[in-house]
Amino acid sequence: MGRQSFVYTAHPARVIFGFDTTETLPGEVERLGASKALVLSTPHQEEQAQHLASLLGKSAAGVFAGAVMHTPVHVSEQAVAVASTLGADVVVAIGGGSTTGLGKAIALRTGLPQIVLPTTYAGSEMTPILGETENGLKKTQTTPKVLPQVVIYDVEQTMSLPVSLSGTSGINAMAHAIEALYARDRNPVTSTLALAAVKALASALPKIARDPADRDARYDALYGAWLCGICLGSVGMALHHKLCHTLGGSFELPHAETHTVVLPHALAYNAPTIPDAMAALQTVLGADPARALQELARAVGAPVSLAAIGMSADGLDRATEIAMSNSYWNPRPLEAEAIRTLMQRAFDGAPPL
Ligand code: NAD
Repeated sequence: MGRQSFVYTAHPARVIFGFDTTETLPGEVERLGASKALVLSTPHQEEQAQHLASLLGKSAAGVFAGAVMHTPVHVSEQAVAVASTLGADVVVAIGGGSTTGLGKAIALRTGLPQIVLPTTYAGSEMTPILGETENGLKKTQTTPKVLPQVVIYDVEQTMSLPVSLSGTSGINAMAHAIEALYARDRNPVTSTLALAAVKALASALPKIARDPADRDARYDALYGAWLCGICLGSVGMALHHKLCHTLGGSFELPHAETHTVVLPHALAYNAPTIPDAMAALQTVLGADPARALQELARAVGAPVSLAAIGMSADGLDRATEIAMSNSYWNPRPLEAEAIRTLMQRAFDGAPPL
């Protein structure tokens, strides 16, 4: 981007990264001056949450294993009531974006500090963003009040992430880094992180697909996902995230899979207007970065078409209309016909144009 002036806003969080870092949790709770932790998880990950509670011993106030997708307000209110009844003075979230979202929603309502142990590559733990749903409507807000104080990345906690979710969650993370490379408010710091992140994930994800127990690959993927989360939390996103928001919100398509299918097409759409970002991506993804992303999805056994993840062909016109009607910045202006073509190709799983 040349030697231009820039603004980089770092978000204050203490990050602990590595293998077996979960054992630092009791010390981190104490460091925050807390002694009654409410541990959060989805029903599926309750065992991991119970393990944390036993590790915390008398500093554990209890476990709330009711986190679900889309952070519904009624679940958050229920969790706030539990936190208050138990006298919790810190929340500990273990899980993916859904559980992190619940921790953020509690922090927003109570001011309680948060410690997050991420177990997917979604990156929410690094962002001041919270999306909540009420009566079927998703509302997203950005406020420093939802930023976690401490994030403990423990590679061990990601070893159980199923192969299919590892692939799509990892490509979901790459989408944050890729859009950061051409964000309007990009800066040399986020661009450096973004490129390192894309490189780490592009190399690690196929290895995880071949051998989910590959600890080095799991380390690299989580490291890349952390950097992707910083990108998402620091600069604005564009076409790709808007399309995924539309498809997820109005057509109820699954989050990480939708990102995986759309990313090659969104990048190809913007490619003619972002020569610097494409040149940077070529250094880590090869001559045709958009195609390389679709090949990566195939290599990790992920879906490459919207048809395969539940989109109906007669929704494509409406999806295009919704995507066109929300005004947002994108490096290439939104052209209705080209966006409709993009949707069709994503639906069919055709190569990105
Ligand atoms: P998720 O949190 O919904 O997790 C999917 C499923 O996988 C859950 O059942 C979970 O319990 C399970 N799981 C997670 N880690 C596991 C592990 N290691 N082993 C076994 N099972 C595991 O999925 P996600 O993709 O991490 O998060 C998606 C949600 O996060 C979306 O609602 C999205 O909008 C939100 N999100 C928000 C932000 C933000 O900045 N606010 C960023 C990214 C994603």
